[in-house]
Amino acid sequence: MLGVTAASAAVTGRLPADDLLRDALHRVWGFSEFRPLQREAMHAILEARDSIVVLPTGGGKSLCFQAPAVAAGGLGLVVSPLISLMKDQVDGLRVDGVAASFLNSTLQPHERDEVIASVRDGRCRLLYVSPERLVGDGGPSLWRLLKQAQLKFIAIDEAHCISQWGHDFRPEYRQLGRLREDFPHVSFHAFTATATERVQRDIVNELRLQDPLVLVGSFDRPNLVYRVVRRGHLHTQLISILDRHDGESGVVYCSSRKEVEALAEWLKGEGHSAVPYHAGLSDDVRSRNQEMFLDERVDIVVATVAFGMGIDRSNVRFVVHVGAPRSPEHYQQESGRAGRDGLPAECVLIYSGGDFVRWRQMLENNGEWSESARLLLRDMEKYAAGTRCRHKTLVEYFGQRYQKTDCGACDWCLKELDAVADSLTIAQKILSCVARVKQTWGTAHVTDVLTGKATEKVTASRHHELSTFGLLKDEAPAAIRGFIEQLVGDGLLAREGDPYPVLRLTNTGASLLRGDGGCQLYREVKPPSSKKRSRSGVRDTFTAVVDSDLFEVLREVRTRLARERGVPPYVIFHDTTLRDMVAQRPKTIADLYDVKGVGAKKAADFGDAFLDAIRTFRKPE
Ligand code: ADP
Ligand code: ZN
Repeated sequence: MLGVTAASAAVTGRLPADDLLRDALHRVWGFSEFRPLQREAMHAILEARDSIVVLPTGGGKSLCFQAPAVAAGGLGLVVSPLISLMKDQVDGLRVDGVAASFLNSTLQPHERDEVIASVRDGRCRLLYVSPERLVGDGGPSLWRLLKQAQLKFIAIDEAHCISQWGHDFRPEYRQLGRLREDFPHVSFHAFTATATERVQRDIVNELRLQDPLVLVGSFDRPNLVYRVVRRGHLHTQLISILDRHDGESGVVYCSSRKEVEALAEWLKGEGHSAVPYHAGLSDDVRSRNQEMFLDERVDIVVATVAFGMGIDRSNVRFVVHVGAPRSPEHYQQESGRAGRDGLPAECVLIYSGGDFVRWRQMLENNGEWSESARLLLRDMEKYAAGTRCRHKTLVEYFGQRYQKTDCGACDWCLKELDAVADSLTIAQKILSCVARVKQTWGTAHVTDVLTGKATEKVTASRHHELSTFGLLKDEAPAAIRGFIEQLVGDGLLAREGDPYPVLRLTNTGASLLRGDGGCQLYREVKPPSSKKRSRSGVRDTFTAVVDSDLFEVLREVRTRLARERGVPPYVIFHDTTLRDMVAQRPKTIADLYDVKGVGAKKAADFGDAFLDAIRTFRKPE
């Protein structure tokens, strides 16, 4: 059913509607081009044809429903799962001069009355509501209002919340399909970044989309640099990552509250501005910490995955996972919060084999362990242990082809992994050791035997007498553990059993031991330090073009304006816009229109402040 993809999306000829959209895009948002599939998605709304639009985070989904509402007039209803998301978008639209509002529990009665009045008399272009508001007790009165207004379309944001297969199931979303009967002439448009076909099918079925236009974008995020490292000395590993991001903002995901607290404390001690975020904190502290991050008053949030949706901050430059998530979907979603502005950003997964064991135990304890959970976890393990392009692995995982042979943006393609010359021999030594200890021991013990470490367990089980004892004594234990992970990832070894998982040979592993087949192992090479940034290639474009002193000055102007208005800085201008100003050095308001991301309203409201700053800027000696 998912017939139409990026490549084959019907491209309708230039309609007059196209001019309307382009005009809105330029006048209101200051953009000159559509992003891939935006144009098609907007036309579906103008033509009132149901649609489902799947674009990665940062792909520009919001504009797909915002621009048609501006271009065509009438009212668009946006269903959004989180109050913070609604507020963010409405703040942004208002700063751009678009009449937008939300209805939710945070409004005072007089504010609510004003919103209702603006909808009723046709002043409002976009109304944001939560699904609860729409299908709950207050539903019918809202429906009457929507019928009085000229409701043109309903956009369902984060539509994967409708599916149990998604990563954020919300039961209220299920009832949205009921609206079809009450609004037979209104088209429905679903938006999500979740790539799997199963979720897409659920969305189409549950929302009862009729002959929907299906638009699926490329899932690749070329501006993200992916790296995977095996967990070693965590603090050292984190420092080397943070060194590459001095003064930039990022998220460090941990798997437990305890680790969140510990790392946040440690980072503060190291002189970083960091706050913790997890479900165990009081609501007050949690929302204050989130706000500090969004308002750019702190650089780093150390968080559990409770910190997630609702982060619209577009200039997140790095996302580190301390511990593997439970599926590639989760990893894509969480790491994808980096670099929404399209500028280079880095995603690092720090993991160990034990992460997967812990997930299994946790899912079992919660009664969530199933065949699908097992496969997802296994796929995540494959990604982590994988020795090929990370972009390719992720894109192919989501069922798309990846054409590039060198992405230039992952540890593999950047040659940060070194091929081990005598891989086959090393692999055979490890496999043979696993066989000799009768496939009843885990990674730590096998590593001890191979390095020739006579621990109590080793001597008690007389493994120091085995021929494989000390067979790899010249290798560091961490390197051997790394090789074992790769063998597990390549399906030559399996990790099985509970509560103490042991290593076993798979059939392919047994064949390799007999001399059938091949194997290539890799060693981690240290990723570049801050001084050798150029190795990642991506970063250079920025430093070359941008005069960072002026950029900082413009950032201060932005912060000041944001404080005055009580909105987060990115609502005023994104980093991309500030950078374009630095590159273009506009002198007049007219020049400003050529800067990416400056629409008419923003030029009028903020133009002078930025032009002044550019005019009076003197490069410090
Ligand atoms: P999504 O909801 O798909 O994650 P957003 O709607 O938040 O993405 O858009 C991501 C960023 O891209 C925003 O900063 C937005 O202003 C910008 N953007 C969207 N469309 C365009 C465009 N056509 N040209 C330039 N920038 C765009
Ligand atoms: Zn690559």
